[in-house]
Amino acid sequence: MEPKRGEDVAIQSIRGMHDLYGAEMGAWSAVEKVVHKTFQDFGYKEIRTPVLEKIEVFSQTVGEDTDIVQKQMYTIERSDEQLALRPEGTAAFVRAVIQHQLHRLPGAQRFYYYLPMYRYERPQKGRQRQFFQFGGELINDASPEADAEIITLLDQIYKALGLSHYEVRINTLGDSESRAAYRKALEEYFRPLLGELSEDSKARFERAPMRILDSKHEADQSAVQKAPRIGEYLTDFAKAHFESVKQRLNQAGVSFIVDPLIVRGLDYYSLTAFEFVSDQLGAQSALGGGGRYDGLAERFGEKPIPAVGFALGMERLMLALEASQKMPKVPAGPFLYLAPLGAAAFERFYPLSLELKRHGLECELLYEKDKNLKWQLKQANRCGAQYALLLGEEEVAKGVAVLKNMSDGGQKEIGLDRIVEQLKQVHST
Ligand code: AMP
Repeated sequence: MEPKRGEDVAIQSIRGMHDLYGAEMGAWSAVEKVVHKTFQDFGYKEIRTPVLEKIEVFSQTVGEDTDIVQKQMYTIERSDEQLALRPEGTAAFVRAVIQHQLHRLPGAQRFYYYLPMYRYERPQKGRQRQFFQFGGELINDASPEADAEIITLLDQIYKALGLSHYEVRINTLGDSESRAAYRKALEEYFRPLLGELSEDSKARFERAPMRILDSKHEADQSAVQKAPRIGEYLTDFAKAHFESVKQRLNQAGVSFIVDPLIVRGLDYYSLTAFEFVSDQLGAQSALGGGGRYDGLAERFGEKPIPAVGFALGMERLMLALEASQKMPKVPAGPFLYLAPLGAAAFERFYPLSLELKRHGLECELLYEKDKNLKWQLKQANRCGAQYALLLGEEEVAKGVAVLKNMSDGGQKEIGLDRIVEQLKQVHST
């Protein structure tokens, strides 16, 4: 029976959730490697939290009227417990910090995560229901330098990958005193305009009028553009903090623009908020973003823990790399294809192939014992190997093998004794 393919297969993956394999998976791994390394270069240590959490981890923290909490969570009920698949990393991170008392460790603590997230959103380019985020979190430090470090780190991740088509937009959401004053001003401003606003914004007006500024609805745009800006309502402390963040970013050579409409979708941010926006992604233009969230711990019933962080989406990063033609080059095939011609050659090559693998030299040997040269070279081409190692009866007798460069066809003999060392040398050049 013919195997079923593509659309005909009865059971497929869930809409908005994708399998990664082949060349795409190779490119992801290469990018992930750069991101892991950049985090590690900045002194961030990896942390992994479970994919399932008690629902309160998110419902108490992210904001009752946010899209995430209201309509996007995948929830499960088990033994009378309400659980949720992690829709975002920071709340779960803070749950772990408090559980393990990581904030009691002396001085600033730096963490990062790389985890899948789940949100029931309408899938489109750059928007999925399962997507991967890298996140960086710096706790126990309330200084503007910490905010600038986090922004510099996110900028460095993109730079290390060769991206340049993005803008760093920063804003301050003020401290709680600034926000109370600003909220009042926004309420006064939006109240007479309520009739013209979108339904979403009307709903936001009651609980979080600041979030109206984040609206993408056409109907809200003119009101949003003319709305009062937070700058006039900042306390001296909030103003000074923001000035220092900007100064430190200038010092670090990170270009940015101040965008008073960056408010971030979630409830728990204060002071610095930022977004990295690409002009190559279409509607889903946010590459990554974050901000300061000192008050998040209070939602778990704890004292505030100074903290600042960001999350970056891998899918959008891959789209941006593709659009900028900066996708890392990944070798299409193994370093070496072993081509035994006859049984005696196969006997030599079988243990050699395992020995090479143990030495970190990727090679392919097919367990076919009596194939001719033409067949072997065809397979070497098919698998995309950089080199083929040919061994016939004559060569076995002479104690040599023939190394063929598959891209230029050049050949040379190498001795079978010390062959691993010789191949290692070729591999490293
Ligand atoms: P957020 O947690 O909403 O602030 O998102 C942080 C980053 O995660 C965004 O800038 C995107 O790069 C990525 N992201 C958020 N939601 C999705 C999604 N549904 N699909 C793919 N990437 C997403």
